[in-house]
Amino acid sequence: MTVLILGGTSEARALAAKLQGAGVDAVTSLAGAVGGTSAPPGRLRVGGFGGASRLVAYLEAESIRAVVDATHPFAARMSANAAQACAAAGVPLLRLSRPSWRARPDAASWHWVADLEAARVAAERLGQRVFLSVGRQSVAPFLCWTDRYVLLRVVEPPDEPLPPAWELLRARGPYALSGDRTLLAGRRIDVLVTKDAGGTATAAKLDAAAELGVAVVVVERPADPAGVPLACTVGEALDWVLGH
Ligand code: NAP
Repeated sequence: MTVLILGGTSEARALAAKLQGAGVDAVTSLAGAVGGTSAPPGRLRVGGFGGASRLVAYLEAESIRAVVDATHPFAARMSANAAQACAAAGVPLLRLSRPSWRARPDAASWHWVADLEAARVAAERLGQRVFLSVGRQSVAPFLCWTDRYVLLRVVEPPDEPLPPAWELLRARGPYALSGDRTLLAGRRIDVLVTKDAGGTATAAKLDAAAELGVAVVVVERPADPAGVPLACTVGEALDWVLGH
């Protein structure tokens, strides 16, 4: 049997390694938007499928017997396409998504917003100097901030030119509390703007913000497609695959 892992996350990579260790044939699919990552273990394919109907054709052509959607919590289009295609092709689908940050004790003190535009409006009320940690594809709504200091931390730089007052920091997690504390304190950050990516690899900025009294604006996750079973850990996803 062949398993398709929809990837782009550390969890997808870890699952690919575990399946390889268990002797299960798996192929990881990457969108290909971010370069510089080493290939995940096992087989790899790169690039969009061309929508849900083409994904159905791919599942059939490659004799895929199960799909694990281990894409980022904010990759809503891919998750919706996977749900539609797997339902049409009769292929079991599991959503592997790291736990939300909502369960953190400090989450109640954050400013939760529905989208990036609302995050911009909220941050403008909360301070002048911003740590923007939303990913390279989500920078556009903030580019009107030409009069404020913005520390933008991204794996790969965005396509858009950045205002001169912004500082671009290229880095890849996981991040340590000591480093993020130094970053927020050293840049005299007033507001952290982030998405509810969840998990531990990028959570140090939240701990640093709590320590330093920095305001936090968090964009809520899109809902996962209805009716798709959910796993929060790689171990749970491995058990699900082996159970098929
Ligand atoms: P998206 O908006 O849900 O997807 C846009 C399109 O990209 C999809 O319709 C699909 O194209 C293609 N695609 C996405 N993930 C793919 C995959 N794993 N394999 C093949 N095609 C894929 O996704 P996104 O937010 O642009 O994210 C793109 C990738 O980056 C995802 O794999 C995600 O795991 C990763 N990522 C996203 C974020 C984030 O904040 N959104 C953060 C870190 C990593 P077709 O319709 O042509 O099939």
